[in-house]
Amino acid sequence: MAASGPVRNSLAHAFPRPFPLDEMALSARPMETPPKTTPQAIRGTQDIFGAEAEAFAHVVETFERVRKLYRFRRAEMPVFEKTAVFSRSLGETTDVVSKEMYSFEDRGGDSLTLRPEFTAGIARAYLTNGWQQHAPLKLATHGPLFRYERPQKGRYRQFHQIDTEIIGVPEPQADVELLVMADQLLKELGVADGVTLMLNTLGDGASREAWRAALVHFFQAHRAELSEDSQERLEKNPLRILDSKDPRDKAFLGDAPKIDDYLSGEAQEFFGKVTSGLDAAGVKWTRAPALVRGLDYYRHTAFEFVTDRLGAQGTVLGGGRYDGLIEALGGPHTPAVGWAAGIERLAMLVGEVPEEQLDIAIVVEADGLDTLATSISTYLRQAGRSVHVVAIGSMRKRYEKAAKFDPRGILVITDQDVEAGHFARLTYKDIAKDKMSDANADAIMQIVSVFYPLGYFCDPRMFQAGEGITLKSHPK
Ligand code: ATP
Ligand code: MG
Repeated sequence: MAASGPVRNSLAHAFPRPFPLDEMALSARPMETPPKTTPQAIRGTQDIFGAEAEAFAHVVETFERVRKLYRFRRAEMPVFEKTAVFSRSLGETTDVVSKEMYSFEDRGGDSLTLRPEFTAGIARAYLTNGWQQHAPLKLATHGPLFRYERPQKGRYRQFHQIDTEIIGVPEPQADVELLVMADQLLKELGVADGVTLMLNTLGDGASREAWRAALVHFFQAHRAELSEDSQERLEKNPLRILDSKDPRDKAFLGDAPKIDDYLSGEAQEFFGKVTSGLDAAGVKWTRAPALVRGLDYYRHTAFEFVTDRLGAQGTVLGGGRYDGLIEALGGPHTPAVGWAAGIERLAMLVGEVPEEQLDIAIVVEADGLDTLATSISTYLRQAGRSVHVVAIGSMRKRYEKAAKFDPRGILVITDQDVEAGHFARLTYKDIAKDKMSDANADAIMQIVSVFYPLGYFCDPRMFQAGEGITLKSHPK
């Protein structure tokens, strides 16, 4: 057998070894100790904690609540797909596919990509699972996405989106419903002020194609004066020139052909129904004739909710109609519309969300009453109250710690007259009222009622004195 084990280094091989044990000795040789540096997080990823994490969770919880009001069903998709899922549906010429994808070959030799967006994966799932049977389908999801971008505030390499899609509805009512839902979400998050819905139509396939040809014609005449990026876009994705932030390109944007001059009657009617639907729902919008979406499959409605409160990363939510996508993945013609919003950007607008106030801190004064504290806290939590138990450290420390949690009330568990058959004493201090509370008599009586079956009872009269409750072991 060829020498291949890690212990057979070249030197060991060169000399005959008298004992087979030598091999073990060699393998037992201490490894070189690796340097003890801590590996750093990947550039463009984030570790979120505290108030920021609360804001993140608040965005997701609000989204979950709102999507249920609109009866969108949850779906979960894998974070990675075959690369073709994205390259075929997004188009090779988009920034996302050409520059931003995390693609790699797996051990089986397949080219896989960490999802840079949700829609393509949802379309793939729709086709491979036969979700057509549920059409029209309203879907919602959220989770991490990956794009190789230059990290900065509001722009990360792993970021998170909430996402909604309506698949199988060709009518503009679907576009309206999605936009009204987005508007309600922003209002419920309390960030709607200063966020504007920018709305455009790209028309149907024929309108879009005619507009595209006019844009190519127009920009061709100024080709040499355009930025290098836009000269390339001119060949591959001319609509994207309208998106350019480069001053050399911006100089021409004002005079560029407008989609309105190329809209077919049908496309005009479609857009009219979208805007009148928005007006009926009281959703404010602003026409943005140069707004295009970077992805090739968009038709008709295109929109963004933008703000100037986030600096350069001002788009918080974007989407539109993508009637051509499912076909691009080999499925039947299936109209669809959707949007996605960056959770981090929404959370930045929301600002710090304080943790909810703690209901009750339980201070266990005597060791040995831990199990009682466990019973009480379990009961309280099952009854829907938040509880922290403080049962270690010096007495002073325990009270300090309890106060630091800033609870609504502190419940103290003390041992008492164990000899006399008393077991423990509960006192409850309502922090707002700064006194032993009788008002909580009912609540505490409720607590105490659970102890009876556990073998304890209390004398309710004790409570009237406002001095707490004494638990006794009751005679079996
Ligand atoms: P941008 O113009 O900011 O690059 P985009 O057009 O690439 O945005 P979409 O693909 O439409 O963005 O994604 C929808 C939303 O997801 C954006 O409006 C934004 O809130 C968020 N988003 C996109 N890319 C990132 C990122 N790298 N980091 C954080 N959030 C992002
Ligand atoms: Mg982008």
